[in-house]
Amino acid sequence: MSLTLEQTTTIADNLNYATQAFIDGSLCDAADQTKFITMNPATGAPLCEVAHCKGADVDAAVKAARRSFDDGGWSRRAPEERKEVLLKLASLVRENAHELAVLESLDSGKTITDCLHEIGNEVADFFQWYGELVDKTFGKVVPTGEDALGLVVREPAGVVGLVLPWNFPLLMAAWKLAPALAAGCSCIVKPAEQTPLTAIRLAELAQQAGVPDGVLNVLPGLGETTGQAIGRHPDIDIVSFTGSTEVGGYFLRYAGESNLKGVGLEMGGKSPFIVLDDAALDDDLIEHAATSAFWNGGQNCSANMRQLVDQKIADEFVHKVTERANAYTVGNPLDPATDIGAMVTQEHMSRVTGYIDAGKAEGAVLQTGGQKDGDGYFVTPTVFSGLTPDMTIAREEIFGPVLGVLPVKNLDEALHVASDSEYGLHATVFTKDIDKALNLAHRLPVGTVSVNGFSEGDIKTPFGGFKKSGSLSRDNGTEAMEQYLQTKTIWINRGAAT
Ligand code: NAP
Ligand code: MG
Repeated sequence: MSLTLEQTTTIADNLNYATQAFIDGSLCDAADQTKFITMNPATGAPLCEVAHCKGADVDAAVKAARRSFDDGGWSRRAPEERKEVLLKLASLVRENAHELAVLESLDSGKTITDCLHEIGNEVADFFQWYGELVDKTFGKVVPTGEDALGLVVREPAGVVGLVLPWNFPLLMAAWKLAPALAAGCSCIVKPAEQTPLTAIRLAELAQQAGVPDGVLNVLPGLGETTGQAIGRHPDIDIVSFTGSTEVGGYFLRYAGESNLKGVGLEMGGKSPFIVLDDAALDDDLIEHAATSAFWNGGQNCSANMRQLVDQKIADEFVHKVTERANAYTVGNPLDPATDIGAMVTQEHMSRVTGYIDAGKAEGAVLQTGGQKDGDGYFVTPTVFSGLTPDMTIAREEIFGPVLGVLPVKNLDEALHVASDSEYGLHATVFTKDIDKALNLAHRLPVGTVSVNGFSEGDIKTPFGGFKKSGSLSRDNGTEAMEQYLQTKTIWINRGAAT
C-alpha cells in the first residue's frame, strides 16, 4: 500500500476531522463544553480542537458501557455474530486506510509509510484475527468422579478502560480493543492527548460495522483529568494501560484507592541489542541495528537503544551504523520518501535533545545527529559511541532516535550489562552460535528476545515486559484475550449413577 505526496496532500486538504467524544453511539461535546488543541508536530501548527472529557463524561460513558454489558447485546451475543461484526470492522478499516493513515500522520508526525502499513495491514489484521478467535475460544471440563461435573467457563470481564500512548495511536487502540471486544467486554478508550483523532474515527467505523451503542466509547482528554477519572472509576472492572512506567504506577494507586480494579500494564523499556564477536557485521545486521533504534523516530517502547557490541568489533560497528544513520531522510511525514517524521511535541523534542546534551556532558562520543533546523519538531538519527553502563543515556528511556554503542568484553559481560536495568521489555541477540543464542535468550530478564534480527514477534506472540516494563498481562496472541476474560467454575453434583 503506498500513496504519492500529491495524493497524501489532497487527502489531507479534504479531511473532515471528527473532534467530539463518542459516547453511547453518538458524537458529543464534553459535558462542560471544554476543548483542547491537538497539534501537527511536523509544522508546529494547531490541527483542530477536540472535546476535553472529564469526570462527568467518564460517568456517562461508564453508564452506557455498563448498560450495554448487562443487556447482553454484545457480551452474550452468539460468538459467530460477534465474529461477523469484527470481520466487518477489519474490512472497513482496510477500505478507509488511506484517510485514517493521513489523519494519523498529521496528528502524530509519524511517516505516511508507517501509518499506511500499521493501519491498512496491522490494525485491520487485529480485528480480523481476534474476530476469528471468538468462536474458537473454549472453556474446560475438569476431571471428576462420577458424582460431579466440573466446568470452567470463560466470561467477559465487564467494563474495561483502555488508556493509550501516542507513539502508535491506532495500532495500540487495536492491540487492546480487538481482544477486549472479541471477549465481549464494553470499552472506554482514552487516546493520548497528542493523538486523539483516529480513535474517534474508528468508533464511527465500529458503529457502522454493527458494534452496539455503548459497547465502544472514545473519550479524548488529558491524563490528569480523563485518564485519572477512568483509573479511579468505581464501576470499571479492568484497566489496560500502555504508556510510561511512571503513569503505569499511578494506575495501580488509582485501583488501590478505588475499587481494586484489575490493571494490565505495558510500559517503558531500555532494550539491549547484543552483538557477539562471531557475528558478521554485514548489511543485514547493520540494518537491524539501525531499524531497532530509529524506527518511528525511536519513539518505540521496544527500541534497542543500548547496543552492546563485543569490543573486538565495536569500532567497525560504530563506523557502519553511523554511515547507515546518516542515510535516513528526516522531514515531511506526508512524503512517502521520508524515513523519519517529527517528534510528537516540542516538549518531547527538547527532552530528547536534553538527553543528547547529557550524553556529551557525561563523556560519550557523538558520532552524528541532533536537532534539525526549521519548523516542526525534528531530530536526526543520533549515534553515540563509548557508552559506559552508568551513563544517563545508557540507563534511561529516551524515546527518540538516540542509539548508544557500549563495548563489552564477552557474552557474560553482555548479559550482565543487559540485565542491569529497571526495565525488561525486549532484547536482540546476534551470534552464529545457536548455543550462545539460546543461553542468552533463556537468561535475559525480558519479555521478548529476538535472535539474528530485530523483531517484536507478530500478532500470534504475546508482548509485554518483565520488571518495570509490564505487569503479568500481555498484549497480542491468545494471551491478550485472557486479560479481558474471567474464569468461572460451575460445579454440578450428579445423582448416583444407576
Ligand atoms: P504516558 O505519558 O504515560 O501516557 C500514556 C497515557 O496515560 C496517555 O493517554 C496519557 O494521557 C495518560 N496519562 C498521563 N498522565 C496520567 C495520569 N496522571 N493519570 C491517568 N492517565 C494519565 O506515555 P506516553 O508518553 O503517551 O507514551 C510513551 C510511553 O509509552 C513510553 O514510556 C513507552 O515505552 C510506552 N509504551 C509502551 C508500550 C508497550 O507495549 N510496553 C508500547 C508503546 C508505548 P495524556 O496523553 O494526556 O498525557
Ligand atoms: Mg497531534
